[in-house]
Amino acid sequence: MIGAIIGDIVGSPYEFHNTQDYDFPWLSPGSTFTDDTICTIAIADAINRRITRNDGDPCYMANLLRWCRKYPNPKGGYGGRFAQWIQSEHPEPYNSFGNGSAMRVSPIAWAFDDLSQVLQEAEKTAMITHNHPEGVKGAVCVAHMIWAGRHGMRGSELMEISQRYYPGWELKAPEIGKFDETCQGTLPVCFWVLFYADSFEDAIRRAIAIGGDSDTIGAIVGAMAEAIWDIPEKIWLSTLSRLPRDMRNVIERFYENVLPDK
Ligand SMILES: [Mg+2]
Repeated sequence: MIGAIIGDIVGSPYEFHNTQDYDFPWLSPGSTFTDDTICTIAIADAINRRITRNDGDPCYMANLLRWCRKYPNPKGGYGGRFAQWIQSEHPEPYNSFGNGSAMRVSPIAWAFDDLSQVLQEAEKTAMITHNHPEGVKGAVCVAHMIWAGRHGMRGSELMEISQRYYPGWELKAPEIGKFDETCQGTLPVCFWVLFYADSFEDAIRRAIAIGGDSDTIGAIVGAMAEAIWDIPEKIWLSTLSRLPRDMRNVIERFYENVLPDK
């Protein structure tokens, strides 16, 4: 899930000022976390608390509300209807198929070992807002890909999983710079990037240079790339240094709880 946060931070200067330069500066003064990081942290925090409390309550909704209300004005803001959902007294799912369900799901794929549980929990994280079938599919697909990557699947095995959710994605090259915030528009772009990449950094650079919704493409690609390639320590550390203490605490606890060897 740190992969998602890295992708978000690195992509953050380019969401509204796209770059097509693959050699863009990795971090600049304007590089900061956005909604993708906040929501990912919220899901990770839910898992941290669940592990501690162990009472079976997923807490996904409560944690999303808590974190997003704590950080109400991130760079780039929140999507319109999600912003309303955060402030609502009685938050209800609103049938979204935006890419928000896919960008926040990554902690799930690391926290559970059993694939059917990963897919079920991924669905739960989507359903609280993104209960449209495409919104759920985006989250479930990303979680499945990460789970597969961390269990050693590569190349054609990962390709087969991606095609199960998005048949034929590989037949159509993405349009450079096209802004599309839907799951069904974003995931094929992310696969296009991922399957041509050969390292974590290469994946993120390709994700940003393809343009469009850069921080979220960066987050989703980063989330999947983390399961395939090692993230250089320098990249970990420089990213963490851009986050406030409360977010760093969640990340540290998450990796201690879930992946003590990492
Ligand atoms: Mg964002």
